Amino acid sequence: MKRLEAEAGIPTHYINELSETDTEVKKVKIIPLEVIVRNVIAGSLSKRLGAPEGTALKCPVLEFCYKDDELGDPMVNDYHILAMGWATEEELETVKDYALRINSYLLKFFKGIGIDLIDFKLEFGKTSDGTIVLADEISPDTCRFWDSKTHEKLDKDRFRRDLGDVEGAYKEMLKRVFGEGR
Ligand code: UDP
Repeated sequence: MKRLEAEAGIPTHYINELSETDTEVKKVKIIPLEVIVRNVIAGSLSKRLGAPEGTALKCPVLEFCYKDDELGDPMVNDYHILAMGWATEEELETVKDYALRINSYLLKFFKGIGIDLIDFKLEFGKTSDGTIVLADEISPDTCRFWDSKTHEKLDKDRFRRDLGDVEGAYKEMLKRVFGEGR
């Protein structure tokens, strides 16, 4: 989060790390959207388009899903978002701009540690003064990470797809991101 703010200029909810498991964050009103960014076809997009997983996309793809578990987080477009009042036109443009800038930053960062960033999910919130901030984690629970050389999956697909060695994959990601010390 700190790096996204300092190096990519993205405002986030992050305030302070309190412990290994607790983070102090700004109070925000969550925009009820899951913002999905994709660089390579995988998961639900592969099923929807009938295209094999691992196919590179010619440019990043942005998708929005309305956050409602009972409805199964249905995919929506800009018109739904504006018509339902989930965000204003200006807020939506900010969300898109931030999502694509976060993607550019993370693609480069993960490439540097031998990881292909396939796709990921972001959520944004609004602080009391109306500032849009990233209000989410960046982790193997919300991103698809594939080893650049072996294409091994190093994310939650390991347990969702019963691929085994879930812990090993998460530890490998920790090691690559934070070094041997963690
Ligand atoms: N994702 C997430 N939470 C959700 C839905 C999706 O973190 O509720 C992430 C998921 O981990 C993947 C990306 O968003 O990195 C795209 O997910 P997809 O639509 O392919 O759905 P999936 O196949 O993961 O169910």
